[in-house]
Amino acid sequence: MNKPADIKHHTVPLWIGGKAVIPAGRTGDVYNPATGQVSKKVPLADAKTIDAAVKAAAAALPAWRDTPPLRRARVMQKFLQLMQDNQQDLARLVSEEHGKTLPDAAGSVQRGIEVVEFACGIPQLLKGEFSENVGTAVDAYTLRQPVGVCAGITPFNFPVMVPMWMFPVAIACGNSFVLKPSEKVPSASVRMAELFKEAGLPDGVFNVVHGDKEAVDAILAHPGIAAVSFVGSTPIAKYIYETCARNGKRVQALGGAKNHAVVLPDADLEFAADALIGAAYGSAGERCMAISAVVAVGAAGDPLVKLLAKKAKAIKIGPGDAPGMDMGPLVTAEHRAKVAGFIEKGISEKAELVVDGRTPPHKEGFFLGTTLFDHVTPQMEVYKNEIFGPVLIVLRADTLEEAIALVNSNPYANGTAIFTESGGAARRFENEIQVGMVGINVPIPVPVAFYSFGGWKNSLFGDLHVHGIEGVKFYTRTKVVTKRWPHQDTPAPGFHMPTLG
Ligand code: NAD
Repeated sequence: MNKPADIKHHTVPLWIGGKAVIPAGRTGDVYNPATGQVSKKVPLADAKTIDAAVKAAAAALPAWRDTPPLRRARVMQKFLQLMQDNQQDLARLVSEEHGKTLPDAAGSVQRGIEVVEFACGIPQLLKGEFSENVGTAVDAYTLRQPVGVCAGITPFNFPVMVPMWMFPVAIACGNSFVLKPSEKVPSASVRMAELFKEAGLPDGVFNVVHGDKEAVDAILAHPGIAAVSFVGSTPIAKYIYETCARNGKRVQALGGAKNHAVVLPDADLEFAADALIGAAYGSAGERCMAISAVVAVGAAGDPLVKLLAKKAKAIKIGPGDAPGMDMGPLVTAEHRAKVAGFIEKGISEKAELVVDGRTPPHKEGFFLGTTLFDHVTPQMEVYKNEIFGPVLIVLRADTLEEAIALVNSNPYANGTAIFTESGGAARRFENEIQVGMVGINVPIPVPVAFYSFGGWKNSLFGDLHVHGIEGVKFYTRTKVVTKRWPHQDTPAPGFHMPTLG
């Protein structure tokens, strides 16, 4: 049934057991968002194909789990080098299928590479605890062990970075992994699997499957999968969390966002406006940490909106691979239509349309211009929903208290930022705000790889965030051993410097 990859005919293969495979069955279209044309086909896996991937991962698990952590880390170090060598090619793949500009894509690949750098040092974090003489001649200690076959299900907006929040950490901890990237952007994951094999990763430790709901449901139902990491929209995150919990799987499910930036009157407004423009319209607003709602406090409002309008109109929009562009197209025609629908909604709700992005400079492809609404209220649909496009809304508040209360009453709680010169106001904000990631004069506070990434409330279902120490905790479990030796063994004599790695 499986035939080798046929890149000539633009079918993106799956990667199972260290080989590219194209199963028979349903396929989907992959688009170039800048032209609007179908560029490739992607197979959509069924339960049988998912089972083949899980079997390959399960077969590879025992040897990989028992491979000394230092040897696993050496494979990771080679993978790191290969990722660095191939950063620009990976960025090109990301830009071709997602639409974001090449420099933006390269930056997102860099953030993924940083997780591999973190994963190279994971042996340090796999150490357990030890207590001598917890009873007479009895010692107690913990072992931190991998959980087994893990799965990752990822969204379209970061084809390299979001998968890398998961699989390098899981694999460095001794697990094997099945990744199902978004079927809209399937190629980069397969390229990373090829590079990992070249780095020396044994076949079957890392597998990539493509597909839609059918593939996801097969993953959630598969008894061979111990843990599932998900990143995507809130309704699907909730579904993944509930289904995994019912099926006895460990799960972390990161959802959508409505990220607020609070701007106080004492802020450097020029600096704040520059930061907000990049955070709102970069990657065409298709970032889970994009600032999509500005809360302008008191006298900050009018001058800030003036600056935002000027800067939003100056954004250069074009194909991601064209030099000098700030913003590319949206990912698909459906998504473009959904975002355009929210602009119409905002107009009909009587939000003040300050910049109108409905007529983009490019007719072909899935482009939209930049849109800015002012005087939005919390009752409006443009506030209540995650738009995930180049639409920035401004709400007004009289005081910091009012701004904090507004942010805290929103059901999403991924990221937020405050712009101010006041240390006291910033400290109060970081203390009282009910959001997982907070920026102080930093518009997109994505934590570095050795901290953990994750929101609160409807932005994350589960207990542990991704990468950093929480990622290691998610992909390992501890066991406590209590040990007594009534008769001590005599060690065998040895003459060489022992090496363990
Ligand atoms: P999505 O929820 O539509 O898809 C995510 C994954 O789920 C994909 O792999 C997709 O194939 C699968 N899927 C889609 N519909 C499904 C269904 N009915 N049943 C089972 N699986 C299904 O998300 P998207 O549109 O690809 O990505 C955008 C969303 O992801 C936004 O909401 C964004 O905020 C969110 N996101 C969140 C974070 C975060 O860290 N919290 C990061 C990136 C993106």
